[in-house]
Amino acid sequence: MDIPITFADLGLSAPILEALSRKGFEEPTPIQALVIPALLRGERDLIGQAQTGTGKTAAFALPLIERLVPGAGHVQALVLAPTRELAVQVCEEIVSLRGNPRLSVAPVYGGQAYSEQFRRLKQGVDILVGTPGRILDHLERGSLKLDQASYLILDEADEMLDMGFQDDIEKLLGQINPDRRMLLFSATMPDRIRQIAEKNMRNPELLAVKSPQLTTSLTEQIYFEVTESDKFEALCRILDLEDEFFGMIFCRTKIQTDDLAHKLSDRGYGAEGIHGDLSQGQREAVLKKFKARRINVLCATDVAARGIDVEGMTHVINYSLPQDPEAYVHRIGRTGRAGREGTAVTFVSPEEYRKLAFIERVSKSRIRKERVPAINEIIALKKDRLIHQLEESLDQEPLPLLEELAEDLLKDRDAKSVLTAVLQRFASEDFDETSYAPVRDLFERPSKEMRGDSRFDRGSSSRIDNRSEGPRGKARLFIALGRRDGLSPKKLIELLETKGGVPARFIDDAAVLEEFSFATVSFRDAEALVQAFHSQGRQGKPLIKIARPDEQGAQAPRKPRGRSFGR
Ligand code: AMP
Repeated sequence: MDIPITFADLGLSAPILEALSRKGFEEPTPIQALVIPALLRGERDLIGQAQTGTGKTAAFALPLIERLVPGAGHVQALVLAPTRELAVQVCEEIVSLRGNPRLSVAPVYGGQAYSEQFRRLKQGVDILVGTPGRILDHLERGSLKLDQASYLILDEADEMLDMGFQDDIEKLLGQINPDRRMLLFSATMPDRIRQIAEKNMRNPELLAVKSPQLTTSLTEQIYFEVTESDKFEALCRILDLEDEFFGMIFCRTKIQTDDLAHKLSDRGYGAEGIHGDLSQGQREAVLKKFKARRINVLCATDVAARGIDVEGMTHVINYSLPQDPEAYVHRIGRTGRAGREGTAVTFVSPEEYRKLAFIERVSKSRIRKERVPAINEIIALKKDRLIHQLEESLDQEPLPLLEELAEDLLKDRDAKSVLTAVLQRFASEDFDETSYAPVRDLFERPSKEMRGDSRFDRGSSSRIDNRSEGPRGKARLFIALGRRDGLSPKKLIELLETKGGVPARFIDDAAVLEEFSFATVSFRDAEALVQAFHSQGRQGKPLIKIARPDEQGAQAPRKPRGRSFGR
């Protein structure tokens, strides 16, 4: 294992270290570890090969914050971003890190009123973040001068070229202080990027994080698309759905880890959190509880989770996306070991889609989209579970005292009222639908990749997509194989893929019950699958058919072990 590097090791000053700690960042990401010292100390222009989500914004922002003089009255650093969303995001990140509010940061992008931009520029901006077209516009109108800018940062340079900003960038480069230091970030290094670098940068140093070669096998990987505000509710539903959840939930920051652990234990789950601020003693105490299964949910940051090796975890949940594919693989590698299947669940908000696609591609993973379980599904499952537990108890020798108590209770009362009262007393909370808040269903919503947004059109390399048929274009398949046949959701999908020729990415919402299973595919694929499995039925019954409407709810069978995502 690499020796961890701290932010202090990178040469950042105390106020910045404080800001980082407030933000809950525990240690630098790999690209930060490379870029921060190079930008702080060196003189050379830099090319950083990094994707969105790797922490590249802070990688260039922190040295700028260290180096720039707040309130200098002219633009000292210009950051160019391909879209206004990214420009705003970059601004917000810099503001959250800057420490000194006198260091002014402002976004300037197309679509926003000029009047507001004129006003901001006139006031003086230290770090200006903008889209190339609008920045050029201001230069041409004379409302912006860049002759004293000491830094030029091209963020997501490959995206900017893909979006046709090459000419604007060239023009802009002609108008900025020739003595500026230039930093170019790009996820890929096509020739056009190299040409820009050769023409405009002085002896640039290339800083790239090695792409890991990664694979994970026994882990079933699924993702839920949920808005940020629905994540907690969706998490509770997943925890409730599982009979014996025992797993880790990964958060991005210490603050988030603490918050989540508290919120979960407030809701009655056995959850605790660990992060870098805990003392060794505290950390060990929490881990001991987890290993002994006195708690079944461990919330953690990547840093705090390092070295944790607990057998038998059923789940790893990525409550926040990991910073890069390597972190993803490390996280989910904690389940699905020793020949046992585990499940990795990733929450992704619509904005994070692209990053998930990147993680999937680089880590060579298969991440299947699932629907957040509905409330009635969970309630039905809890009902079956309760019946199953009671049936088990019926097989056991009762305590004589309890038998006497039962006789007493039944003396002057009818059995149904007594039993209802017992259930009311001990199980009503479990069956209270109002304890669940609604979760917005984004399942059928076309993701950005599918909406033809030019920025996302290159999704062909991504396996995270969906055919754009709406709900009416989908069919629920009934498959006459279940857990008793050794099937798991993962195996079911493999079967449909290898024998039926339907790629896993087009198979959704696979549910494996004791005797049979369900999966959702497009009508076209449904027909192909029914055909492909035509000759493989049992006792004259087809192995796969399109589910009847009354089967679509896929009620669990009498003795379920939970609609488990992959166990
Ligand atoms: P970026 O790649 O700059 O878009 O960053 C992606 C996300 O990672 C942002 O939400 C950052 O706030 C967060 N982030 C950046 N650096 C770190 C770090 N060292 N530790 C934890 N989170 C980070």
